[in-house]
Amino acid sequence: MRTFRADDGLWEDHRVEDVATPQAFRRDPDLVQRFYDARRENILAARPNAAHQALARLDREWSGELLIVTQNIDDLHERAGARRVLHMHGEGLSAWCTACDARHRWTGTLRDNPPCPSCGVRALRPDIVWFGEMPYRMEEIFAVLARADLFVSIGTSGAVYPAAGFVQEAKSHRAATLELNLERSQGSHWFDETRLGPASELVPAWVDEVLRGGAAG
Ligand SMILES: [Zn+2]
Repeated sequence: MRTFRADDGLWEDHRVEDVATPQAFRRDPDLVQRFYDARRENILAARPNAAHQALARLDREWSGELLIVTQNIDDLHERAGARRVLHMHGEGLSAWCTACDARHRWTGTLRDNPPCPSCGVRALRPDIVWFGEMPYRMEEIFAVLARADLFVSIGTSGAVYPAAGFVQEAKSHRAATLELNLERSQGSHWFDETRLGPASELVPAWVDEVLRGGAAG
């Protein structure tokens, strides 16, 4: 099986937009299940990096409120040890039963259409927010944005709503805002401060600063 090439966004010559939709799942469920079976393999083979480790340290050592909202579907934050994580686009290692609504941790395949462990019906789909579906737990995210003292965006393009609107929401409630990114983004002008560089360097440095009681905390 060929692997997903993040650089051109193609998988077995399909555009990701053509497999990550409810329409694609209705049209060709086997194709979509095979795509996410491959994603699941990639997730299991991946390892947390220095940025994941630093955020896990922040979660352990920061006694104040914290919420790590991620658009990533992997479990690398959790494997690094973070607990206060919200997956707004779902989780690759979760299967969602469309018959009984149960969710189960899933590390195997779904292409073989296995029965739901809760109800026995063969109606499991990837627990992923597809294009055209509503991201998870938005009310909770906006409630946290409304009372945050600091909003930090790490490595996002600033181009895809609703995540792109988070900085504006946080600012409207007078939070300080910081962008950590490889390069300036479409949303950079919204932030009080932008630091450019790889997340593996910027995030550990920023976490150090916060835990020492520096200005960014
Ligand atoms: Zn079920």
